[in-house]
Amino acid sequence: DALGQIAASSVLCQVPMPRFRSTSVDGYALSGGAHPKGRAFTLAGEQAAGLDRELTIGNGEAIRVFTGAPLPSGTTTVVMQEDVQVSDTDAQKITLTDEAAPGKFMREAGEDLCEGQRLLSPGDRLTAQRLSLLASQGLQEIAIRLGPRVAVFSTGNELVQPGQPLANGQIYESNGLMLRLLAEQAGASVVTAAHLPDDPDTLRVAIREAVATADMVLLSGGVSVGDHDHVRPVLQELGMTMHFWKVRVKPGKPLLCGQLEDCLVFGLPGNPASSFVSFLVFCLPAFRCWLGLENAAFDEGTGPGQRCSVVLSGRKLHNESDRPHYVRGRFDAKASQFEAIGLQQSHALQSLALANALARVPEHSRLVAGDTVEVVLF
Ligand code: AMP
Ligand code: MG
Repeated sequence: DALGQIAASSVLCQVPMPRFRSTSVDGYALSGGAHPKGRAFTLAGEQAAGLDRELTIGNGEAIRVFTGAPLPSGTTTVVMQEDVQVSDTDAQKITLTDEAAPGKFMREAGEDLCEGQRLLSPGDRLTAQRLSLLASQGLQEIAIRLGPRVAVFSTGNELVQPGQPLANGQIYESNGLMLRLLAEQAGASVVTAAHLPDDPDTLRVAIREAVATADMVLLSGGVSVGDHDHVRPVLQELGMTMHFWKVRVKPGKPLLCGQLEDCLVFGLPGNPASSFVSFLVFCLPAFRCWLGLENAAFDEGTGPGQRCSVVLSGRKLHNESDRPHYVRGRFDAKASQFEAIGLQQSHALQSLALANALARVPEHSRLVAGDTVEVVLF
């Protein structure tokens, strides 16, 4: 259940790793110093992986051991069974076919982790590998940071839920699902998700209810200046303190952000690509802050939003406008390149579905293949 979550506290090693001296191969445990090729030993017992039989190696003796077995006391080295000849006439007699130096094929107790050593820090992403490390300590539980409780509303009279028939002029509602999934991917738990008409009274009731139970409200559509865009006036009527409305970004200009009671509210533009860009560039950093990840490195698999500089390939990117343009495209990690793809208009979903990154083309700039460009990875 903790996979992909963020650790809330430190975990220190309680069980040294390895826990006891053990053999890393199937072979024979020997005592003493270096042994020359040809030296013979008498087999004095056997220790498999599992319960420690607490054997001791006597002089001139060898003990048969198998990978992971606790080492008999007195062991100074282990020889692989491939380097030993068992006598044809006496199964208890073995001869070294190679010399045996001390200290081979033994795992020392605590050489990987010793007691008290830090295994996890607060803010660490819980990957399969890290959770298995906790399991190797015998742990069954880990405290995690809870993401915000989020309400997602899509608005628009023209929108119909998938599964319903479309009348002329109607389209399917797709932003609600996108924002819900992006929020969940960012660590949120979505407590409300609904589609609302362009009606101030319905909006008012739904938002007021959401604010009582959610930490964040994401609204899509109706944040612009049209006659049917009621989101902003309704939020202001409800007493929201506006952090900002309209951003110098393309697509996604009408984005709104404010504080309503204990709730952070984002009003995202309805065009699907605008909604996505707004989420990636503005909402995602808010989720990361909520989880205390604002300074966390992305190399820990802390999700999308990572920015890096790569080389532009393919078509040129001209941005004559006074807003930075986030362009959809393919980032090729191997070549460290980005190539724009498909339609870039804010309603175009196909290019968004094919893309894995946005390139940020600064205002009043002309980028051509070979130029450096900043990208935001999904
Ligand atoms: P708005 O921001 O409400 O002015 O909507 C801008 C454009 O995005 C319009 O063409 C809407 O039909 C479209 N749109 C708004 N919300 C959604 C949605 N949830 N799913 C798909 N398209 C939407
Ligand atoms: Mg609308």
